[in-house]
Amino acid sequence: MTPPEIPKEYDAAQIETKWMNTWDASMYYFDWADHTRPQYIIDTPPPYPTGNFHIGNALNWCYIDFVARYKRMRGFNVMFPQGWDCHGLPTEVKVEETNKITKNQVPRAEFRKMCEDLTRGNIVKMRNTMLRLGFSNDWSNEFITMEPSYYVKTQRSFLKMYEKNYVYHEEHPVNWCPRCETAIALAEVEYRENKTKLNFLNFSLADNSGSGADKVSIATTRPELLCACAAVAVNPNDARYGKYVGQELVVPLFGHKVPILADSDVDASFGTGVVMICTFGDKQDIRWTKTHNLKITKAITRDGKMSADAGKYEGMGISECKAAIIEDLKKEGFLYDQKESDQNVGLCWRCKTPIEILSEMQWFIKVKQDEILSAADQVKWAPDYMKVRLENWTNTMEWDWCISRQRIFATPIPVWYCNKCHKIMIAEDSWLPIDPTHQKPPVPCSCGSSDFHGETDVFDTWMDSSLTALCVSGWDSGKELRFPTQLRPQGHDIIRTWAFYTILRSVAIENKIPWETIMINGMVLGTDGHKMSKSLGNVISPEDVLVEHSADAFRQWGASGGSVGSDIMFRWNEVVSASRFIQKIWNIYRFSLSNMGAFCEKDAAAFDSSKLKQIDRWLLSKLGTAVLEITDLMDSFQFSDAFKCIRQFTWDVLADNYIELVKGRLYGSNDDEKEAARYTLYTSVSVLSKLLAPFTPFLAEEMYSRIGNGSVHQQSWPEISACISKDAESKGELIKEITSAIRSYKSDNKMALNAPLKKIEIYNADVDIGDISSAVASPVDLIKGDPDFASVPTEVKPNMGLLGPQFRDKAGKIIGALKALPPQEAEKMKEAGKITIDVGGEIIELGADAVEIKKELISNGREIDLLHVGAAVVVIVK
Ligand SMILES: [Zn+2]
Ligand SMILES: [Zn+2]
Repeated sequence: MTPPEIPKEYDAAQIETKWMNTWDASMYYFDWADHTRPQYIIDTPPPYPTGNFHIGNALNWCYIDFVARYKRMRGFNVMFPQGWDCHGLPTEVKVEETNKITKNQVPRAEFRKMCEDLTRGNIVKMRNTMLRLGFSNDWSNEFITMEPSYYVKTQRSFLKMYEKNYVYHEEHPVNWCPRCETAIALAEVEYRENKTKLNFLNFSLADNSGSGADKVSIATTRPELLCACAAVAVNPNDARYGKYVGQELVVPLFGHKVPILADSDVDASFGTGVVMICTFGDKQDIRWTKTHNLKITKAITRDGKMSADAGKYEGMGISECKAAIIEDLKKEGFLYDQKESDQNVGLCWRCKTPIEILSEMQWFIKVKQDEILSAADQVKWAPDYMKVRLENWTNTMEWDWCISRQRIFATPIPVWYCNKCHKIMIAEDSWLPIDPTHQKPPVPCSCGSSDFHGETDVFDTWMDSSLTALCVSGWDSGKELRFPTQLRPQGHDIIRTWAFYTILRSVAIENKIPWETIMINGMVLGTDGHKMSKSLGNVISPEDVLVEHSADAFRQWGASGGSVGSDIMFRWNEVVSASRFIQKIWNIYRFSLSNMGAFCEKDAAAFDSSKLKQIDRWLLSKLGTAVLEITDLMDSFQFSDAFKCIRQFTWDVLADNYIELVKGRLYGSNDDEKEAARYTLYTSVSVLSKLLAPFTPFLAEEMYSRIGNGSVHQQSWPEISACISKDAESKGELIKEITSAIRSYKSDNKMALNAPLKKIEIYNADVDIGDISSAVASPVDLIKGDPDFASVPTEVKPNMGLLGPQFRDKAGKIIGALKALPPQEAEKMKEAGKITIDVGGEIIELGADAVEIKKELISNGREIDLLHVGAAVVVIVK
């Protein structure tokens, strides 16, 4: 009888809630004092607290949790910390939208507080989703970057890097978002293909005497920058323009004169082959401005308006100015053509406003490409091809990392400027944390003055998050430094930012790589195969999945749907089949427990393995092999294959074969045989619950709770390789195949599977017959040697289809005569190729195909059927 406490249906919602509320979170804590176990510190991504732990996060965290739980069971001292990367534009923008203000309309401190309040609420929401999904985070090592306890480290790291000459303050071109009014890093610029108008303008020569022509044509997409035009350039190999090099042109509408230069970077095939060089038009303009030492004009202000240099266009927005200038160029006859052209526009990652390049005083960190590339080489990349992305990015870095931002909700830069001598004062270590916007330095400037103004720029948020590896391993915390960490899990979309900056900072500060291994996860695509986005309406949240299914089903989708590095499409049918698999395991579990009696851990330890039957040994050997395979796959982050292996064992080996074969013993009366089956089932269920623990922690715990002591998540990873035996596997395979051959025989003969056969004899096989006999519900004998049998003709069957059309009205008599032939005689004639019969005195000759001879197998005088299974022969006595 089934004990009442194991319900038939697996109630995931009830069971998952129960364990979520029961688990003691401290079982996942990292032990700082422990040096006996190897450490496994995970540099967990600190998500941005949007309040929405989206499905892409959830997939990434599934991978991390699989690793964390697995490593703990393998005996590692695991830290799976959780941080929150709070600072930054999205929260500021949200606060501005919600309160219908801009950052400058409220006092700085008040604005920051509004951001902090929003962030705290969002963290609570996201933390709840993580707990509901069963992630085994170490909450004793949580960090929140907006707290002074964290950002003091960002400030301290700045001091360290300043001392080591990585930091400088300089006027330099930067990518600028005119809407957000801040500098942004190249990594925050999104490029998008666009259509724009290429405008063809005539510039007249300043001195056209003797040249024969009085104008040069120029194509430009940015006529609004005419006021900042500092030169025009042609390719030195362009025969059309060689004669103009060194002369001067007059800029339309503005009237200033600019030189015509030769530069081999000019693409002669674009536009007219003549380009206009404007200060900060694009990066190429900046290179040319520098190489040719051209005059710098700042045409655009920090808020995206035309500057005083734009003359009558001053104060206009950029697109407004563009329209006005085009109108004027047409009116004055300078513009003679317009063509559509493709354009690659850089947009602000946050607000999608086209970025401008401005020259600003900013703080920079030196990008030392060689240092970063050599560190990247020492890290193990999973999958390894992802390393190329970092290398390519590093090699394209032209400018240093601009770390200052003109925003509020971020870590303050601990710097002041002396109002008397204008010297910079960098904070001392002991003053940190400090906010120079409202705190003065405790000592005067070297000039004696105490009149300072504090830096109002703040740090790029990557300055906070690129420290996570250092922070979680104890840097600047009074704890022992356990750096580098062992694992960095992250998405491929932030290789050029988070991975890149973390390597840069770790090498600069500690001269070490940040992690031994980096594991890259893919993105989750919608059910339509597209990137999930609100506008496409294909967004699915982890909560959507939890409503109808379960955390364990979601996690299985994560495990089996994809592999490290590749994007994965969300598929509901995979979640459905995951739920079915949970019920399937539950059925097996319920069957096992209801047939195990009181068999427990203690009985398993005391069990005498000589009682095991062949099929038990087969099952245990298969399980041992599966454990080894799964262990290897977990070590190389092949979660999909590892889970497939668990499924295969459970479904094919345990459920479809083993359980069917041992039912007889479990229901029978031989105590030793029953005990062996119970031991095997107990071991299977116990090992399975441990193998499932990283993937489906709730189900695993529910299973283990009735058969073991303590939490399954505090058990060791199973190790039963001693059970592996080639011999046991081949014998068990044979038992399985013989049984299944007999079952197919029954079904071919339209017999019920439990219908008994008179007798079965197995020849030429060394197998236990007890389990076969009960599985096929028939008596079985095992006999040495080969069976003795003969094939005897028993009936002549005339070929009606052939004889009917050939002999028409005579056919009936012919058929009668054929049927009357003695079967043995008919077979001889058929073998000789000719069948002769006498039909009412007429001798008729027929071909061999006129009859079929039905034969039967006879062994020791009994009618039998034969089945061949490998070398074994199965005789079925009819
Ligand atoms: Zn922006
Ligand atoms: Zn001074």
